[in-house]
Amino acid sequence: MNRTRSSSEIRDASRREIVRALVVGGTATRNDLARSTGLSAATVSNLVTELREAGLIADAGTDNAGTGRPTTVLRIDGRGGSFLGIDVAETYIRAVVFDASLAEIGAADVDLDEAWSSIDRVADALVAAVDEALSRGGRRRDDILGVGLGLPGIVSKDPRRDVPPHGWAAHIRDLESRVRRHLPAPVVTANPLQAVGHSEIWFGTARGRSSAVVVNLGTGVGAGIIVEGRVLRGATSTAGEWGHTVLELDGRTCRCGRRGCVEAYVGVPGIHQTLRDVDAGHALLGLHQRDFVHGLRDSVDDPAVAQTLARTARYLGIALSDIVAVLNPEVLTLTGWTAWALGSSLLPGARAALAERAPEMTAARLDLGVSPVRVNSVATGMAVLAFENHLDSRALARRSRPRPEATVTPDPLPPTLPQTPQPIAG
Ligand SMILES: [Zn+2]
Repeated sequence: MNRTRSSSEIRDASRREIVRALVVGGTATRNDLARSTGLSAATVSNLVTELREAGLIADAGTDNAGTGRPTTVLRIDGRGGSFLGIDVAETYIRAVVFDASLAEIGAADVDLDEAWSSIDRVADALVAAVDEALSRGGRRRDDILGVGLGLPGIVSKDPRRDVPPHGWAAHIRDLESRVRRHLPAPVVTANPLQAVGHSEIWFGTARGRSSAVVVNLGTGVGAGIIVEGRVLRGATSTAGEWGHTVLELDGRTCRCGRRGCVEAYVGVPGIHQTLRDVDAGHALLGLHQRDFVHGLRDSVDDPAVAQTLARTARYLGIALSDIVAVLNPEVLTLTGWTAWALGSSLLPGARAALAERAPEMTAARLDLGVSPVRVNSVATGMAVLAFENHLDSRALARRSRPRPEATVTPDPLPPTLPQTPQPIAG
């Protein structure tokens, strides 16, 4: 059903456009912003004023290049606040502190064991990672304006399935409530697929593209789907679970309990199974997931590894052709630690299988590659989401500082606000 956007939703979207243009572009005048966002000069001017009052935009000098009067060049004020992006994966938690220009200023990793049964142990690890990241970034809890918490995708609890989930992942839905009160600011959650979608829209191959798909390859696999410039969330916020679509009828058992899922072939445990099928005694089979993937990357001349990668590339290309058939995207980007390690080995075979399988014309203009965003794209995408959430009018109003000219009477700031120096009026 179509719904007309309210004026405050339009204003929130416009505010995000301006901030995104400055974060990505570095500096811009008000005229540049009007041109790049398509917003009117008056709207840009209003929103810039509001964002300056919130401490998020500062002056970066003047531009005398034009024929008219010098105009003020604007930039994001990195000190205007910080955001936390947290990536909870099956085997690790990574917490990253970003400044308001979304530059990474502190990070911490904690290893997780999939076999842990207690979600409390994972919650403790998460809080420890956050504290460590804050300390490394030199930020206090008060400096954080928003937290983005990326949680692993759905794991089926359906007892009728062959393989009920074991370990802490079965309790993943409880994690957010366990950690929320230990986190320093409002929390938004999303799955990693939606996070990498946001990361690619802001910094990667989906910038300025109307339709794009970002395929995340790791222990699990899935797709961040961008349609008409927005990340698709779906009716229950679980869009993108391409990893659990069927690649082979009655094929390998997937950890979700179904059979023949894409993930059971191109997720790391799936690649592990393929190597076992090729050579049951191979030395790499004894390694843990990350060492296993890096071992594959470093031994592409080993015939068993070469055969494993060739099969994996073919599985990947065929599975991607289904996405392409349905969505006909402009760009298809591989990301995640497996893609960064194995992407160059997988791309030629995946492209060939995709060309062979995708219905006529659907892949004709497709740009398939590995993402240029090599920082943790889930943590970055979650920080983007936390920032976007903070930019909604109500959140922004809560944190707005008084105008410099209004501080003649020394009103004390509310106790929750950091006592940061007022900017020099400009
Ligand atoms: Zn599955």
